[in-house]
Amino acid sequence: MPGLSLWHETADDPWVQRPRLSGDLRADVVVVGAGFTGLWTAYYLLREDPALSVVVLEAETAGFGASGRNGGWCSALFPAGPGKLAALPGSSRAAAMAQHRAMRATVDEVLAVAAEEDIDARAHKGGMISLARSASQWRRAQDEVDSARGWGRGPDDLRLLDAEEACARLGATRVRGAVFTPDCAALHPARLVRGLARAVERRGGRILEGTRVRRLLPGRAVTDAGTVRADVVVRATEGYTSSLEGMRRDVAPVYSLVVATEPLPDSVWERIGLRDRETFTDARHLIIYGQRSADDRIVFGGRGAPYHFGSSVRPGHDREDRVFASLRATLVDMFPVLAPTRFTHAWGGALGIPRDWVASVGLDRSTGMAWAGGYVGDGVGTSNLAGRTLRDLVLGHDTELTRLPWVGHRSRRWEPEPLRWLGVNAGLRAMTFADGEERLTGRPSLVARAVSPLVGGH
Ligand SMILES: Cc1cc2nc3c(=O)[nH]c(=O)nc-3n(C[C@H](O)[C@H](O)[C@H](O)COP(=O)(O)OP(=O)(O)OC[C@H]3O[C@@H](n4cnc5c(N)ncnc54)[C@H](O)[C@@H]3O)c2cc1C
Repeated sequence: MPGLSLWHETADDPWVQRPRLSGDLRADVVVVGAGFTGLWTAYYLLREDPALSVVVLEAETAGFGASGRNGGWCSALFPAGPGKLAALPGSSRAAAMAQHRAMRATVDEVLAVAAEEDIDARAHKGGMISLARSASQWRRAQDEVDSARGWGRGPDDLRLLDAEEACARLGATRVRGAVFTPDCAALHPARLVRGLARAVERRGGRILEGTRVRRLLPGRAVTDAGTVRADVVVRATEGYTSSLEGMRRDVAPVYSLVVATEPLPDSVWERIGLRDRETFTDARHLIIYGQRSADDRIVFGGRGAPYHFGSSVRPGHDREDRVFASLRATLVDMFPVLAPTRFTHAWGGALGIPRDWVASVGLDRSTGMAWAGGYVGDGVGTSNLAGRTLRDLVLGHDTELTRLPWVGHRSRRWEPEPLRWLGVNAGLRAMTFADGEERLTGRPSLVARAVSPLVGGH
């Protein structure tokens, strides 16, 4: 799929659309959306019970959505911190830590399945480095590690690096230190999602593409081309959920945008580092994320694009020249050696934000309606945990996974417009403002502190 993203172009895949739904069908499970969530769910269900009939309905082609276009961080990050998870009804400190352990194990699980299924996702687990590039960021880095220790997380999980250790991994400007975790792999997301779709089919799953579901009802996914009836209906539409009838306010689509450089020569990599393909960010408020791709590019993304009125999701929102320019400038500011570098790709996509920023997975047994998502920007790993959890829920197994605190959690709906537009954009603006405030005052942002209970996250 040329033009959609670097990943789509380099997936070594012809992206030929699979057949559409034509007429009514009956299945045990119908999954709506062929991104990581839908495909992991189908994959694990079929691996556990090959006799199940599982149909996946996809409006475009498998991997068209966020799963094919993201930053390729397969991390142990979860969009709600442990304090928030522990405070959920019926949860506890121990439950919040169980969720964290499950997330850590998920990174290895993704890599293991990719290897087993012979999916060349160009993955490498080199950890994640979050730089501190100002006094305020350094204070936040220290607080983050102190807080992690308070939750019993040791240096094998998260640790501080001093400026010299940090620069040995990543030679950016103004580095005062960093936080490092080994729990992150850099991967090629489109190769993973396309390989996963093939693995689902090898195990007997049926993926119907070019088939847009209009409405989800108990026991039914309704499309213009027919209705698929099933005991369980799984919603796996994440940033696109607002387009389903009656679900406009369930998840807010917020755009994240990405740029990529040409493949960089060894002389540049000697200056930048990332020898172990660590993924990287810094501790600014407006999130940025980068990776060294297997073909030696820097793929670098961030927020900053506006939320669009009415939770609108359209191809036109994927491109925002102001944000692309700001991403390129940020990268050159971090690594001046990149000043003459050519940027070859720029793209974007919608991620899904629940009202309370707590991702969730669940199955309502009385209706057979299941869902997973609201991962904010952490869905590459979390969707795998969701897939295994949905397998257990659908098959009626009571397991460690089904007892995690995010299972069955219901975020309240977003406000109607124009309040939603005002609120989400005010939050996004506040984060940009907070970074400017810190640059000017040299102190931790008061604005960020004021809005952080609203935006949660790590
Ligand atoms: C630019 C960007 C960068 C990101 N970077 C990272 C990162 O580095 N690490 C990380 O962990 N997360 C990242 N994320 C988030 C992550 O990509 C997502 O959380 C994850 O891919 C969600 O997977 P999903 O399957 O739930 O949704 P999607 O991949 O969006 O899949 C949903 C699918 O449903 C289909 N669909 C929608 N509506 C319908 C309908 N009505 N009928 C049928 N099909 C429908 C869509 O076409 C789509 O294929 C990023 C997201 C973006 C946009």
